[in-house]
Amino acid sequence: MEAPCRPGSGSGREPGSLGGCRAGGGRRWREAAGAWPRTRRRGLAGARQPAAGGGRDRRAGPTWFAAAEAAEAAAAAAAAGSGKLEERLYSVLCCTVCLDLPKASVYQCTNGHLMCAGCFIHLLADARLKEEQATCPNCRCEISKSLCCRNLAVEKAVSELPSECGFCLRQFPRSLLERHQKEECQDRVTQCKYKRIGCPWHGPFHELTVHEAACAHPTKTGSELMEILDGMDQSHRKEMQLYNSIFSLLSFEKIGYTEVQFRPYRTDDFITRLYYETPRFTVLNQTWVLKARVNDSERNPNLSCKRTLSFQLLLKSKVTAPLECSFLLLKGPYDDVRISPVIYHFVFTNESNETDYVPLPIIDSVECNKLLAAKNINLRLFLFQIQK
Ligand SMILES: [Zn+2]
Ligand SMILES: [Zn+2]
Ligand SMILES: [Zn+2]
Ligand SMILES: [Zn+2]
Repeated sequence: MEAPCRPGSGSGREPGSLGGCRAGGGRRWREAAGAWPRTRRRGLAGARQPAAGGGRDRRAGPTWFAAAEAAEAAAAAAAAGSGKLEERLYSVLCCTVCLDLPKASVYQCTNGHLMCAGCFIHLLADARLKEEQATCPNCRCEISKSLCCRNLAVEKAVSELPSECGFCLRQFPRSLLERHQKEECQDRVTQCKYKRIGCPWHGPFHELTVHEAACAHPTKTGSELMEILDGMDQSHRKEMQLYNSIFSLLSFEKIGYTEVQFRPYRTDDFITRLYYETPRFTVLNQTWVLKARVNDSERNPNLSCKRTLSFQLLLKSKVTAPLECSFLLLKGPYDDVRISPVIYHFVFTNESNETDYVPLPIIDSVECNKLLAAKNINLRLFLFQIQK
């Protein structure tokens, strides 16, 4: 069992019903409930007194200083004399489900309740799993992709509010935070430049120069390095094998691909379960069907934060000889989901005409929820017939 969400998430009548399954949800919850301004205030006060808070003296990069001072000035100006307003804005603009400030798109129900994109998609996916109409956790009105629209004013307002850098814990306007965390933060996690010859060191940026000067890797002998490089080559080789096998499959004599659309159905068990099936389709002159299931038909997938899909390929037409195939499901042109390619093999005969359920290698549960939240799942199937 994966870490369960709080039971009843999605049917939550109170804000924060999804909070239990999000990292840091608890903290945000407390913060939004009124306790958080203490940390924020401390952060802002620290920003105005350069010596205070978290060893600022270590961070001496000139570019960082210019940009950070500008950001601080903006944050300080925004907060000057209006700390209260800023705090009030946090509670006005936060997602009514997780009570966090939305990081990207903000959706609203027909009554104007705000939901961050993650929570919105999660609610739609949960409703699909429970075979219910998705509703706004605040007012219970129906929500769907067509009923809810984005709220650009809120998105822009949120991007102006200060937010905390996850590495150095200092405050920046949200719009500057990404760049700060990626390029400017002296505490951001970096890797040694000798990583390519096997140095495993990673640590805060401000320690990087000291480490690199003392790093033992450049002084290793050729034969020591050979050993390290061998290990690295092996993992690289595995990756290359996958791509090479895809390329060699592409030069097979008989290959076919098609767009497949998985549609949701319910089993007629006592407790119905969601599964997906495509209409019949023809590839390589044979008729096929694909089926998919959520969390390998776990009893209550809506109670788990982990979301996976597995699928099965079924041959529906009769064959005169065994049909050996490689197959591969990838993102199609109509759905945006990140799948890492995996090639599966199977020999289809009239007696054994369906594969086992194999994982659909979606990169994570968030991506999987995106698929579940949609009406249908659109992917592209490649089939390669192996002729001996
Ligand atoms: Zn949310
Ligand atoms: Zn509502
Ligand atoms: Zn930082
Ligand atoms: Zn190193």
